[in-house]
Amino acid sequence: MDIEQITGQMRQQILAADSGKLIYNDFGKALPALRTTALYGIFKAMPKGRLMHAHIEASFDMHYMLALALSTPDVYVFLQPETPAFRYCQLAHKGWFEDGVIPSGWVLLQEAVAADPGLKEKLYEMCTSRTDDIDEEIWPKFEAIFDRFKAINNYRPFFEKLYYKVFTDMAAEGLLGVDLRYISQTMFEADGRRLSDDDYVLVLRGIVEKVQQKYPYFHVNIIYSYYKGVPAETVPSRLEFARHLQAAYPDMFIGYDMVGGEDCGKDLLYYAPVLREAGVPIIMHAGETLDPNNRNIEYALDLGIRRLGHGFNLYRYPDVEKRVKELNVMLEVCPLSNQLLGYAPDLSKHPAGGYIKRGLNVTLNSDDCAIFDTAYITDDLLLAYLCWDLSMADIKRCLMNSLCGDTALLSLFEEQWAAFEASIK
Ligand SMILES: [Zn+2]
Repeated sequence: MDIEQITGQMRQQILAADSGKLIYNDFGKALPALRTTALYGIFKAMPKGRLMHAHIEASFDMHYMLALALSTPDVYVFLQPETPAFRYCQLAHKGWFEDGVIPSGWVLLQEAVAADPGLKEKLYEMCTSRTDDIDEEIWPKFEAIFDRFKAINNYRPFFEKLYYKVFTDMAAEGLLGVDLRYISQTMFEADGRRLSDDDYVLVLRGIVEKVQQKYPYFHVNIIYSYYKGVPAETVPSRLEFARHLQAAYPDMFIGYDMVGGEDCGKDLLYYAPVLREAGVPIIMHAGETLDPNNRNIEYALDLGIRRLGHGFNLYRYPDVEKRVKELNVMLEVCPLSNQLLGYAPDLSKHPAGGYIKRGLNVTLNSDDCAIFDTAYITDDLLLAYLCWDLSMADIKRCLMNSLCGDTALLSLFEEQWAAFEASIK
């Protein structure tokens, strides 16, 4: 039997055993059982190309981060009801507080866990998202989660440990690199000293260089990001910083994006005049919506954008889909994210299966794997294979799309794939 027959049979058996259709309707809940299957083992061993859509602030192993927080001295947790300044279950290193003074309501994490062992589970619950959380408030709830760990993840020594682990785990999962969205963060030292925006990039580059000692091909690009929904007049200063990044770090910087809930009342047409003057490549989240009147993908194409985050609602506009195909625009599809943010209640009806079969330039991605508690890419690949009746050749094509025609990476990938296929019996 060849790889298509072997994995095809495994898929058939898995779907036949899933009488409640948990795989389609709540993939996150189906995952623990799926991870024990032989098919998962095959997807784990598969070479992966590059991860094209991930936000650095929410791309790490949540279990590892929480364990690291617990073993790090001077980490505090806020266990009082939410205030305008602090989130319930928010973590922070001492250096984050003004003048090192711990405000009331914050307690040492190690002492809090010693007094209440159930707190570990509570923290995990408050830092992750699941289908039960989906309602009309899902975006504010989702965005609140990011606040819970930014005041610890941006403590420089913690950041270095966490992201060294992230990149080595990504490489071990078979990834050749990652394009990371990032929004300006305030990195800080134990004594409270704030580092500059440039220091953030330099710290990140230092981690990548360390990872490259073990995985020489592993490369990290950054896509500087800002928020959707903000007044257009606040965007030029962010674009100016993006131009600085482009000039200062041409080996890492690849573009500018605007992220956040797309149903924010401000579409890309509103931002078009400033984006036209960007002076840097634009890579834009567009079409991540159920709003039948959202034409952001079309507006993005009119702006010359050739790479789209999600592109979910393209199916509503066949004329636009034709343009996307002709222009070979890359769609960075994030299927499990789409389910957990309420856009795709039944994954078998997710439109990206059709995009792949109709030959569009699709890549598969995890978006915010820390919050969704998924692998960096394996789970989303398996999801696509199980839910969209794809072939392994389709999956391979999506992975190759992520290499953007880089001949050296493509030949490395082909070599890896041949060895992988030979190992499947
Ligand atoms: Zn995203």
